[in-house]
Amino acid sequence: LAIENFPVFENRIANIYAHAQAATGGEVASYIPELAKQDPDSFGLAVCSIDGQRMALGDAETPFCLQSVMKPLNYALALGLNGERFVHEHVGREPSGQGFNELTLNRDNRPHNPMINSGAIMCSAMIRPGRPVAERFDMLMRFWSSAIGSQACSFDEAVYNSERGTAERNFALAKLMESHDVFPEGSIVDRALDLYFRSCAISLDCRALSVAAATLANGGVCPLTGHRIAEPATVRNTLSLMLTCGMYDFSGEFAFVVGLPAKSGVSGGLMLVVPGVCGIGLWSPPLDRLGNPVRGLEFSRRLVEAFPFHIFAGT
Ligand code: GLU
Repeated sequence: LAIENFPVFENRIANIYAHAQAATGGEVASYIPELAKQDPDSFGLAVCSIDGQRMALGDAETPFCLQSVMKPLNYALALGLNGERFVHEHVGREPSGQGFNELTLNRDNRPHNPMINSGAIMCSAMIRPGRPVAERFDMLMRFWSSAIGSQACSFDEAVYNSERGTAERNFALAKLMESHDVFPEGSIVDRALDLYFRSCAISLDCRALSVAAATLANGGVCPLTGHRIAEPATVRNTLSLMLTCGMYDFSGEFAFVVGLPAKSGVSGGLMLVVPGVCGIGLWSPPLDRLGNPVRGLEFSRRLVEAFPFHIFAGT
């Protein structure tokens, strides 16, 4: 078993959850108007081990929109379709050291990495570029669906519309990349953006998110269905970039203190991967000033104090 005594593990996680719940401060994101409606007291947590043991606490069954938490699978799908070489001719793999929507590119005029907006828009451009957006989005939804154990995930149309209506920075980022002619040949930039906005509005709950994280923790094989959804090399690349770039401008600090591949999003979602052990899905909307969920961070810090999960804990 990946986690030996699951009932004991559950108790200890519940204890850490209670401490994290007590964490105060932070603000619910409001630059996308629809997100401002989220309840700041919501807090969900779910764990799925690589052999399918599961637990859930709090608002673990309330769906929320993924926002940037979709970026790892968006990247993984682009890799699976195009291969590492092609993908990284268009997007770097270095932390940006700047905000997730900063109007900036690396010295080759490429996005710094796939975990920030510019890089995720670039990855969207590489998902079946010649096909209609609806079909491309369907493919991405199916990819998510297979990562969470063949359950359906839904699409939050209100969030999508709200984001599209206030997305000047993302339009500007796409224009900037277009002006440097760095999109793959034949890209229709507006369509890549549309796919990006849609994927930010994919919505699922912590229980489902924990299964996607467990699929990554399990080298790309979903623990619930046994289906391989991504090749080991794709998963390795995805986890590497989550570790170095997944937590906004706090990624280095998070890698140092927590030492786990993770991805946060402005809706307050957080996907945490404990390689070879389990996946954890969290959601709590208040964000700190760098954009990371306050309760999710508190939980992560306490998790690695309680368990030897930091990837270098054993060294
Ligand atoms: N849809 C959001 C944006 O593009 C995603 C940001 C995030 O979650 O980091 O602004």
